[in-house]
Amino acid sequence: MRHLSASPREPRGRSRSDTVLVMDSELSIQVSLSADPVPPERLTEILADPGFGLHFSDHMFLAEWTPDRGWHDARVTPYAPLSLDPATAVLHYAQEIFEGMKAYRHRDGSVWTFRPEENAARMVRSSQRMALPVLPEAAFVASVDALVRTDERWVPEPTGEKSLYLRPFMFASEKFLGVRPAKHVTYLVIASPAGAYFAKGLRPVSIWLSEEYSRAGVGGTGAAKTGGNYASSLLPHREAIENGCDQVAFLDTVERRWVEELGGMNLYYVYDDGTIVTPALSGSILQGITRASILELAGKLGHQVEERQVAVEEWRDGVGSGRITEVFACGTAAVVTPVGTLKWRGGEVSSGEDAGPVTRQIREALVDIQYGRAEDTFGWMHKVL
Ligand SMILES: *Cc1c(COP(=O)(O)O)cnc(C)c1O
Repeated sequence: MRHLSASPREPRGRSRSDTVLVMDSELSIQVSLSADPVPPERLTEILADPGFGLHFSDHMFLAEWTPDRGWHDARVTPYAPLSLDPATAVLHYAQEIFEGMKAYRHRDGSVWTFRPEENAARMVRSSQRMALPVLPEAAFVASVDALVRTDERWVPEPTGEKSLYLRPFMFASEKFLGVRPAKHVTYLVIASPAGAYFAKGLRPVSIWLSEEYSRAGVGGTGAAKTGGNYASSLLPHREAIENGCDQVAFLDTVERRWVEELGGMNLYYVYDDGTIVTPALSGSILQGITRASILELAGKLGHQVEERQVAVEEWRDGVGSGRITEVFACGTAAVVTPVGTLKWRGGEVSSGEDAGPVTRQIREALVDIQYGRAEDTFGWMHKVL
């Protein structure tokens, strides 16, 4: 069986039409360039105000998997719609996983990703839970690098915290309505320039406590980054909006008491003695890379850090009494988001209209590493170009 994997010695400064040889030269990433790239003036316009998830770069990465051939036909091709048979398995049974990461341009023009091997490892774990084939970690990193190198001009200047958002994903592409793991799987990476999440400064978000709906349960797929978890969070998210909130927080499904996370971000609490607490991984919480990085970073900044269960009463009462001084959410897209109000049927508590000092300190420290403004003492950054 052939495996897609990466060569650590990929040539730099190659001409854009070269083929990038991968691994033992058995499998390579073919690069075919778009004959119709977005014109420079239009690209400048897009990068001036990219928003989020609206515009896509000129190319995409694609590879396919079958049981007998393994991963094959790895290629960078012009960005284009996919043609799917109506019986394509993912459309029926949601056998799908994804990742989210960013490429950051530094002031010297170089382009970097943040801990891509962690995204690669998480995709392996997600694929195992969703009975999808394992994409070797080195191949994952090589696929992202190949797309970013091809679409380098889509990586915005670092002003205003812009970045190129990267979306690797894998799905059951077999045409088959039987229920079993697919025997044809497609892996893609697409790229979309992203503006600052907080264009007008750090604004605390309000959270609706979902007491009726769950995001994930014991033994379910909560720890896998899979679209189905998002599908099930859309109705409670709509309930949050209807109740005047921005986001929804989920509790555990057994006792309906322990705080898990938001629909797509992990949670942190700052206590009046400087301790920082995040809910312990329960098996149904998504292991955020931002969450894990903050655990290390906050420790280095001198905070006492704890991973433990947090009851929803502790959140309500702690904010009410002032024992909890700040609450924030974290994830790749927004990095660190201050949480202002927690609202539920029958009440609310508010921890302020502004981002607290610890939230700001942690956010800044992390963003400074990502944009190369602070020394990367953890070795988190991966140079792409
Ligand atoms: C992706 C994701 C996160 C955040 O993970 P990061 O690696 O920090 O971006 C948190 N919760 C859910 C449900 C997610 O899908």
